[in-house]
Amino acid sequence: MLKQLPPLFSRFTVVAAALLVAACGDSANENALDGATAPKPVVVYSARAEQLIKPIFDAYTAATGVPVRYMTDSEQPLIQKLKAEGATTVADILLTVDAGNLWYAAEEGVLRPAYSDVLESNIPAHLRDPENLWFAMSVRARTIVYDTRKIDPSQLTGYADLADEKWKGKLCLRTSAKVYNQSLVAMMIAQMGERETEIVVRGWVDNLATSVFANDTKLIEAIAAGQCQVGIVNTYYFGRLQRENPDIPVAIFWPTAETGGVHVNVSGAGITRHSRNPEGAKALLEWMSGEVGQQLLAGENLEYPANPAVEPSPLVAAWGEFDASPMNVTQAGVFQADAVKLMDRADYR
Ligand code: FE
Repeated sequence: MLKQLPPLFSRFTVVAAALLVAACGDSANENALDGATAPKPVVVYSARAEQLIKPIFDAYTAATGVPVRYMTDSEQPLIQKLKAEGATTVADILLTVDAGNLWYAAEEGVLRPAYSDVLESNIPAHLRDPENLWFAMSVRARTIVYDTRKIDPSQLTGYADLADEKWKGKLCLRTSAKVYNQSLVAMMIAQMGERETEIVVRGWVDNLATSVFANDTKLIEAIAAGQCQVGIVNTYYFGRLQRENPDIPVAIFWPTAETGGVHVNVSGAGITRHSRNPEGAKALLEWMSGEVGQQLLAGENLEYPANPAVEPSPLVAAWGEFDASPMNVTQAGVFQADAVKLMDRADYR
């Protein structure tokens, strides 16, 4: 198995994989000990951090008795690992953020369809793969934030308006290398075409107050510090800062439905093509899409539940309702390569 791993895998990854295999044990022996009644563990490859997923898996095990084992890494190494392992993989579920990554995993053939009435009724159609290869587990909005000391929100309308020259020297952006911005621009291409989108992105670059930021948190802190007045971020980064400092002079603005609505993205999961426990994997995904799973999933990271019947946490609910873009999030994957090229042409670094 080690021979199949391409050089990009660190020693750490190989060791971690070996430990995981060891930790998974021999299910036949486990079953034998318990007279074939011990539930089979579900194994998750997760691009979501341990502190976010552990409470969810612990709650599932407490509720069902089914052990969940997991390994965390970045999304690309995990997808490549699934490809390299093929039928020898121990993974039953791939859990990751961003529709672009989920789309890519589906394209690379590492997922299999899950047919489940529970998942189909809990997760709206625009938040899952049309072939049931993956399902959103939480929703994140990538929206506009502004300096409440200097900006009247009536001046704001949507993403494209941030290209207007009235924002010259006032806009902050995160690097275009982040998949979140690639997905945002991909959705803009899907909505208004490549030509219009390029004009907007060029306008953004012209309006930058400073060079692009490495992450959304630094961007929000720059607005609070008066370095710029508007920016585009995922709401949960704002939520974390607001939880630490309720008086932070930054607020959320929701792009209006007339401008195409708010860009939403997802974290999501699918069953691996070579899962040895697809029924166990499906049962875990179904539980994660239900009330308790959704509250834990969205609540831990101040995101929105993907299941519309479940309420977000009070801090998140206080930001108010918004009109989400009605487009299927898979468009983020379909136009991602075009978005990367477009941002490069427009000198958005
Ligand atoms: Fe994030």
